[in-house]
Amino acid sequence: KRYSKEDVLKISKDLGVEFIHLQFTDIFGVMKNVAITIEQLEKALNNEIMFDGSSIDGFVRIEESDMYLRPDPSTFVIFPWATQVREARLICDIYDKNGNPFEGCPRNALKRVLKEAEEMGYKFNVGPECEFFLFYTDEKGNPSLVTHDNAGYFDLAPVDLGESARRDMVLTLKDMGFEIEASHHEVAPGQHEIDFKYDDALMTADNIMTFKMVVRIIAQRHGLHATFMPKPIAGINGSGMHTNMSLATLDGKNVFYDENDELGLSKVAYNFLGGLIKHSRAFTAITNPTVNSYKRLVPGYEAPVYVAWSASNRSPLIRVPAKRGNSTRLELRSPDPSANPYLALATILKAGLDGIKKEIEPPTPVNGNIYNMSGKERKEQGILSLPSNIYEAVKELSNDEIIKEALGKHIYDRFVDAIELEWKEYITRVTQWEIDKYLTKF
Ligand code: ADP
Ligand code: MG
Ligand code: MG
Ligand code: MG
Ligand code: MG
Repeated sequence: KRYSKEDVLKISKDLGVEFIHLQFTDIFGVMKNVAITIEQLEKALNNEIMFDGSSIDGFVRIEESDMYLRPDPSTFVIFPWATQVREARLICDIYDKNGNPFEGCPRNALKRVLKEAEEMGYKFNVGPECEFFLFYTDEKGNPSLVTHDNAGYFDLAPVDLGESARRDMVLTLKDMGFEIEASHHEVAPGQHEIDFKYDDALMTADNIMTFKMVVRIIAQRHGLHATFMPKPIAGINGSGMHTNMSLATLDGKNVFYDENDELGLSKVAYNFLGGLIKHSRAFTAITNPTVNSYKRLVPGYEAPVYVAWSASNRSPLIRVPAKRGNSTRLELRSPDPSANPYLALATILKAGLDGIKKEIEPPTPVNGNIYNMSGKERKEQGILSLPSNIYEAVKELSNDEIIKEALGKHIYDRFVDAIELEWKEYITRVTQWEIDKYLTKF
């Protein structure tokens, strides 16, 4: 059920809620929150809570730092783990002092692109598969790089710490209204996946932020550290966030399905796919926004490296899962969980919509194993690679007006500034690898 303002006030009173966390996400995908007491709730729901935006990363604009939080009552949820006093949260949009949506707010950016889709008659449904690692913590509670187990894909470890932590995560998420479809051990030691049911993109982006918060909190309660860092350990699989998506009519009918097509896909689906392929190198900066993201996008670890699609092969950038009818969907396999979900979904959707508007045909599917092809063969078939690092990705982004429009100028400028700074910091480091390689050689 999606609550109204009146529902929130009534439930809070009935259940004796004392603290409400007003949450929002900054440009870099980090959740921020301001806690208020129950006495302030009505004021908050009337959009009267102000904060100083100048101290939030990427928001800064000193000349007008006063911003307003606009809680979305439909996001109201009680924290099941808060047992001392009752606590709840509301996710907020950021508005400026003149009452306009703040252009630096990622949730506003996603809403803008969703509105564009709605005007074309579409609803955007998204289901993510978030992977993460669980590591032991030391006596001081600091994370180590020691995984809590040595299990593998779908393994079951009866007395395993990770297994009971994962069960607790699933139960907590269910308490908070999530519909959990599956949870399992992933391929790497200490790596897990929990899948929740798809929903409209705004709800899913909110869910991803909530999911990451819950997984971290519950892991900590089990003496473990959960990380959504894309590639914490070289030499084993990294963590991805496969993004399953489809368009529906406003009354909920999947428009990706066409029973008369050879692959069961509609023209809308093919054009959406064409748009994804066309803009993929540019939106990679947003779906894979860290230096570390590109250590995952390498051959040999089930992560995509080349820009290609297939309905029969599980390894390309975009896969068409076998389900048809209302489950007809495209699975984009590049995003990782360090992405800001609002911006990732905004840019992905924008790419797909551009495909529909311009009727972009996707290239021929690649059904063989691309990893076995030589560079020459790939070149002949016109198969490009994803950017090999965040610097290259940002260069691609800077050449794509459509994807930049999805972000808006404020977010784009702040994002690029921050990445350029981070990149400089990264490339001036001398790593252990270089020492090992060159110290005695030269
Ligand atoms: P995989 O086979 O890649 O492991 P999973 O079963 O782990 O896939 O996850 C599939 C995801 O796709 C789930 O989040 C599910 O809710 C979502 N999904 C199913 N149908 C649709 C649809 N029509 N549109 C968008 N997402 C969907
Ligand atoms: Mg899966
Ligand atoms: Mg599955
Ligand atoms: Mg997986
Ligand atoms: Mg998948």
